[in-house]
Amino acid sequence: MRILLLEDEPKVSGFVARGLTAERCAVDIVADGREGLEMAQTYPYDLIILDLMLPRMDGREVLQRVRRKDTCVPVLVLTARDTLDDKVKLFESGADDYLTKPFAFAELLVRAKALLRRGPVNRSSSLIVGDLELDRLTQQVKRAGRRIELTAKEYALLEYLMQNVERVLSRNMIIEHVWDQSFDGITNIVDVYVRHLRSKVDDGFETKLIRTVRGAGYMIRSGGEP
Ligand code: CA
Repeated sequence: MRILLLEDEPKVSGFVARGLTAERCAVDIVADGREGLEMAQTYPYDLIILDLMLPRMDGREVLQRVRRKDTCVPVLVLTARDTLDDKVKLFESGADDYLTKPFAFAELLVRAKALLRRGPVNRSSSLIVGDLELDRLTQQVKRAGRRIELTAKEYALLEYLMQNVERVLSRNMIIEHVWDQSFDGITNIVDVYVRHLRSKVDDGFETKLIRTVRGAGYMIRSGGEP
């Protein structure tokens, strides 16, 4: 595992780097935001640990610029600030987790390991299957460029199918992900909603994206038989 540690306080970068090296990680320490951004854009890091207050380029700007090119690398932010507003902004800027200074190395290690275990995450707001596109930011759905209007439940069902493209989802899996606790247990509701969704997504198109997998459930896929 190769980690970029962007931290200008030698005491902090020293103890973090020593700990991570003991965990057999390769650690590059950079104390300057601008140089750190260059490193982040040059090497394929498995994790970036980013202090927010850095000379030459603020950590938040480093984060935003990193995210413009690399939406996948996990970023753990180190911050002295501790207001809710800042935290929300951090996650909106593309941070995966944060630690408030001062922190114990054990806590940093637990969080770093959790991010490394999870691996790269696709942060793109769009899900695409064939000519069907779902934008999670605007919640707009289009097929072949044409807007499709969905109800909230139809949207949630389609999003779940598209997140699991080419995977068969059982009716129970669909119920657990799309309906809440108040759901009263009629499994046939899934079939009803899939039928509605199909009529909006697949009717009039030669390629049917939503498939019934007999005895198993449903899935969405782009290629294969019409
Ligand atoms: Ca600092």
